[in-house]
Amino acid sequence: MKDKRPPNIVGDGLMVLINITLPDGTVNEYASGITCAEVVTDVLGRKHGCLAANVDGTQRDMSFEIEQSCSIEGILSQSDEGIHILRHSAAHLLAQAVMELYPDAKPTIGPAIERGFYYDFAMDPITESDLKPIQKKMQELARKNFTVERIELSDEELQQHFADNPYKLEIINDKIEDGGGSTIYKQGEWYDLCLGPHVPNTSRLMFCKLTSVSSAYWRGDQDREQLVRIYGIVEPTKDALKSTLHRMEEAKKRDHRKLGKDLQLFHIDEEVGQGLILWTPRGSIIRQELQDFISSHLRRQGYSQVFTPHIGKLDLYRTSGHFPYYQDSQYPPLVEKDLMKKLSDDGCSCSELSNMMKSGDIDGYMLKPMNCPHHVKIYASQARSYRDLPLRLAEFGTVYRWEQSGEISGMTRVRGFTQDDAHLFVTEDQIGEEVLGCIELVQIIFDKLGMTDYRVRVGLRDPDSTKYVGEPERWDKAEKACRDAAESLGVEWSEEQGEAAFYGPKIDFVVKDVIGREWQLGTVQVDYNLPERFDLSYKGNDGEMHRPVMIHRAPFGSMERFCGVLIEHFAGKFPTWLTPTQCHIITISERHKKYAHEVAQVLRENNVRVQIDDGDDTIGKKIRNHRKLQPAYMIILGDGEEENRTVSLRARNGDQVSGIALDDFVIQINEEIANKISTPSLAVNDD
Ligand SMILES: [Zn+2]
Ligand SMILES: [Zn+2]
Repeated sequence: MKDKRPPNIVGDGLMVLINITLPDGTVNEYASGITCAEVVTDVLGRKHGCLAANVDGTQRDMSFEIEQSCSIEGILSQSDEGIHILRHSAAHLLAQAVMELYPDAKPTIGPAIERGFYYDFAMDPITESDLKPIQKKMQELARKNFTVERIELSDEELQQHFADNPYKLEIINDKIEDGGGSTIYKQGEWYDLCLGPHVPNTSRLMFCKLTSVSSAYWRGDQDREQLVRIYGIVEPTKDALKSTLHRMEEAKKRDHRKLGKDLQLFHIDEEVGQGLILWTPRGSIIRQELQDFISSHLRRQGYSQVFTPHIGKLDLYRTSGHFPYYQDSQYPPLVEKDLMKKLSDDGCSCSELSNMMKSGDIDGYMLKPMNCPHHVKIYASQARSYRDLPLRLAEFGTVYRWEQSGEISGMTRVRGFTQDDAHLFVTEDQIGEEVLGCIELVQIIFDKLGMTDYRVRVGLRDPDSTKYVGEPERWDKAEKACRDAAESLGVEWSEEQGEAAFYGPKIDFVVKDVIGREWQLGTVQVDYNLPERFDLSYKGNDGEMHRPVMIHRAPFGSMERFCGVLIEHFAGKFPTWLTPTQCHIITISERHKKYAHEVAQVLRENNVRVQIDDGDDTIGKKIRNHRKLQPAYMIILGDGEEENRTVSLRARNGDQVSGIALDDFVIQINEEIANKISTPSLAVNDD
């Protein structure tokens, strides 16, 4: 191997040797001045697939010359770091292409973002149709395989290089300390102010696609210049680009905000308020079915249903610790009418009012941000003994949180939501079994919904922190219980140090949908804190009083979020049991109206949800219309069906079957619903 290493002679002609530590711990000796590219090629061969390297944990270009002993790890193009570098480099390529086509444009900034990259230009507005030529130019430039070169410049040189670009000059003047100089990255004749690192050459950027164009303000400031923002994506290989584009297409089709509207599942009305979901009749059916499903399993597991109000006194939340510490994420408190009048007569200002509430000098009410304090009070409403434990209180409880308006999105980020909440009051010894029960419930429900790809994260203490309440030995036990429960699931799980809440360890559920996106759903959390704060107790079989432990669990998070995820998971094609209208009855002509209503009545009596279309449209038009609402089945009725008391079915996927006896169909669809079969299965093509 040694002979492959380039000789490096310094000053007096002696070669200085340095030690380079590789990821596997091996230490190689090289001449100083060797580049990252040479080391990576030496270790991994020519087809190493790396774009850059971490040198002692700092990202460096492949051309970086190593002068001292250090550790080195190549950054693969498909790694998170690699993708980021690829995206940032593609932004440069985009700017280079735009400059060739629009020489008067002024590039401003162009970062990598979560799914790709963008670049903002000061230029006349362009449209989507202008993207194609720009993308073509990018490919042409990529193919030219320019070396991407890092050049250090003095302050003065920087000013000269960007003399005709006021935006870059503003960045240089604001961000770069006097005398510090900075670097540019140059490819061909084009260069940009940048700290890097970047890909070694433009041929790495062959697989780009520009996705959209919009506008943005310089530095995000509405009072500054309006810019043109071009978005794009880039992948290391052709196949990766293809599958990313496919995923984006699928994600668009599955977007619950779009499907929610098309399928009439929910509505958000500005006049009601942002982030406040109105469940329409069709969406309410899905939510109710899910709640019933979850509730039936809660009953089996020995939970008790409770109901509690939507508000509670500030004093309650002072005891629980939710007020005033989490004020920023809550709606402001409500103050009683008489008190409000008295305060305003006294000339009390808003800030005085707020201070008095914080200090506890006056009381008020709060929209509940959590259900726990209410459930704690139900526990505390009676003297409890060890025989009462575990006490499991469940409620689909609605809570309110203040989210910034920019963060609100469809059903997945809202300001009011209903948690599938429950609180378990248990003895120390019961933690393990109860956590396991929570997890089993999740498993049963995920399995029924065909969500087979999920993982579990166990959040543990940060061993270096002292912020945790409860004795370490108790934590050890609870952490072990969480780990054991996760292990018993038989799915992928990981433990994360420092991710526990200050009051106890927790388990999070993350589900991956069919197009590979991950959704964080709910949690199971052990809590030593609230029982302490509310001074909860139970009488043990030793006759002494003991402190119970609480477990909070909302495994699906909220009904809003869960339904939003389910809409995308099923792409709006729900299993029959969840489909809002399971059968749409369609008549071939006017004279089948009576039979249609008879069939509808029979189905309704058997708890099947139906809708009738006995209008005048042609059968083809009716089918097209009703398909938009994605019923599990369309029941088509004509002379033959009426004569023989049968139905003809058209399933959602287009499969058809004719002449099923009505009575048989009722039995079959009830079975399909009761067994929660994942896709409509009663029509198999009969031709
Ligand atoms: Zn850059
Ligand atoms: Zn809770």
